[in-house]
Amino acid sequence: MALAHAIPKVHLHCHLEGSLRGATFVELADKHGVSLRYHPGREPGTFADEPSEPADRADPYRFRDFQEFLLAFAAASRALAEPDDYARLAREFVEDALAQNVIYGELFVSPSVWTFFNGSLDVRAAFAAIVAELRAVRPRAEFKLIVDLTRNFGDVGAMRTAKLAATLTDLDVIGIGLGGDEVRFPPRSFAQAFAYARAAGLHTVAHAGEAAGPESVRDAVEHLGAERIGHGIAALRDPSVVELLAGNRIPLEICPTSNEITGIAAPNGHAFAEFDRAGCIVTIDADDPAMFRTSIEAEYAIVERVAGADTLVRFVRNAIDASFAEPQHKQAMQAHLATELDAVRRSETHHVGP
Ligand SMILES: [Zn+2]
Repeated sequence: MALAHAIPKVHLHCHLEGSLRGATFVELADKHGVSLRYHPGREPGTFADEPSEPADRADPYRFRDFQEFLLAFAAASRALAEPDDYARLAREFVEDALAQNVIYGELFVSPSVWTFFNGSLDVRAAFAAIVAELRAVRPRAEFKLIVDLTRNFGDVGAMRTAKLAATLTDLDVIGIGLGGDEVRFPPRSFAQAFAYARAAGLHTVAHAGEAAGPESVRDAVEHLGAERIGHGIAALRDPSVVELLAGNRIPLEICPTSNEITGIAAPNGHAFAEFDRAGCIVTIDADDPAMFRTSIEAEYAIVERVAGADTLVRFVRNAIDASFAEPQHKQAMQAHLATELDAVRRSETHHVGP
């Protein structure tokens, strides 16, 4: 049996909205009378509604590159219009997570995208709806939320969202992240929002080196103080940035299928193997599993196939250590992982015995 199936799993880079099942997306879009496709405005980096091309209802997520992916993400977010929709999103996410033996997760949510499309949404009620579903599975699994500031709304929007995040800590918000259009909105302009969040006791992470170059990764570390980097793939083009990540023990959240589909994967082999060889802390995740037609188990399977079971185990241990869970909780998860690995080994021994 493949270890990727049995091993306990940890989400550190998974967007809740990107986990919206395709069939549910279609249902919610019908319910609210919105299109499955979405097009941007004429001004670079702006969101503005324009007539949409028809979409395949059996396959609603469709994109050719990173920019189109962002529009698919926007279209799904538009269909999530009321707290009930968020409850359903979270409920189905949990079902999918438990089926894969996920024991812990820090999930991205993008409330500035929600309210861009649905201005009257009660954001706090949406968070409460999500959290009620996530908390219902404790202690089998535990989930926290990271509020994405979404670059496309600029520095002013980012500060507004950081302030919102600071009011949601009672609803399991533990940090802020930075996703969206990395090329048009580089890290530096978000330094104030990150400083505000940190002063408010929130953790900080950032997508970087996904659509932009290695300097974007360096800036996310040096100017934003990001504690973990999402993707970071472009750092492989500049050894000094890889050294910065390795030297400062800043974990990388690597999402192999996402990186391949958005066209940023390392041309020669797998980025997770390259970062691992360079002494960086590698963790593995699925990014937007429904949209990329993958799952955390499928991503773990890629690692197991390419780098072997021992490397997969090490990356899961990395994810537990790189999480923002309390030290005692991390210890408990490491112990649980060890116990489950023992059980897997015993069952394998049993099967090959006389
Ligand atoms: Zn992401």
